[in-house]
Amino acid sequence: MAEIIDGKALAQKVKAELVKRIEKLKADKGIVPGLTVILVGNDPASETYVNAKHKDCVEVGIKSDVIRLPETTTQEELLALIDKLNKDKTVSGLLVQLPVPPQIDEKAIIRAIDPKKDVDGFHVTNAGALFVKDDGFIACTPKGIIEMIKTTGVPISGQNAVVVGRSNIVGKPVAMLLLNENATVTICHSRTRNLQEICANADILVAAIGIPEYFTGDYIKEGAIVIDVGTSKVAGKLKGDVVFEQAAKKAAYITPVPGGVGLMTRAMLLENTVLAAEMYG
Ligand code: NAP
Repeated sequence: MAEIIDGKALAQKVKAELVKRIEKLKADKGIVPGLTVILVGNDPASETYVNAKHKDCVEVGIKSDVIRLPETTTQEELLALIDKLNKDKTVSGLLVQLPVPPQIDEKAIIRAIDPKKDVDGFHVTNAGALFVKDDGFIACTPKGIIEMIKTTGVPISGQNAVVVGRSNIVGKPVAMLLLNENATVTICHSRTRNLQEICANADILVAAIGIPEYFTGDYIKEGAIVIDVGTSKVAGKLKGDVVFEQAAKKAAYITPVPGGVGLMTRAMLLENTVLAAEMYG
């Protein structure tokens, strides 16, 4: 039976470290890290995420500011606000909660955020930095996933890692991070042939497709590390992409949903915000 990689315990540990770093920033430089989140419209899921981010910030001592804009906000209005916040010294980290309403071009918004405040790690400068192994903010979900894998103590170098999903925010950056850790990486997507066969050979499997309980036990290699990124609501319950009971019988380590990657993602946003204040504050 697999050992569970406990996202809650790991996130608590990260937060405890951050509290110390925040206290040191205050004592040494008189700086309080600040995260500003812009929410456009009334999407209920986005509202939940933004509230969680606010709560997390308050818990560790980051100054949290949530700016709520109406659904009808124009791109020009949003860009003007971002420009203002880019220049605001009290804002260490800045993000626009996605998705944005259709009249706003998501890419233009991400491009407008100062890369030094882009704690989501979505700006091309930060995505590119990961590509060439330079300094920059790493997107929170992939960053948390690598930390979770590392806590197993199993060396990543030389492992056969399979990432299913190729989004800009999860699949691609996690594949790049695994490559940077010297894994042999295969990236799969909706056009991949023989997906089950490829996954069944994975020492590390990262499942990030957003289809609840898609990966049955047949997709899992004996002794694998299984990272379940998926979060789908099924009859009001949060479900991962992996059939947990089946996968846990074969894997050596597995992340649960809920209580896994999502909590580490939240902790990594806090870490990136503190990092921003330490580096540029
Ligand atoms: P996304 O942008 O929708 O990407 C999904 C990826 O899965 C695409 O690359 C798609 O392939 C691939 N895919 C879809 N069906 C497939 C299939 N049958 N076989 C193989 N590949 C398939 O999703 P995302 O933003 O990366 O998120 C993925 C999941 O993770 C979602 O459930 C999301 O809610 C969750 N998530 C969780 C966290 C967290 O903190 N826990 C953070 C982010 C995302 P194509 O490219 O060919 O279309």
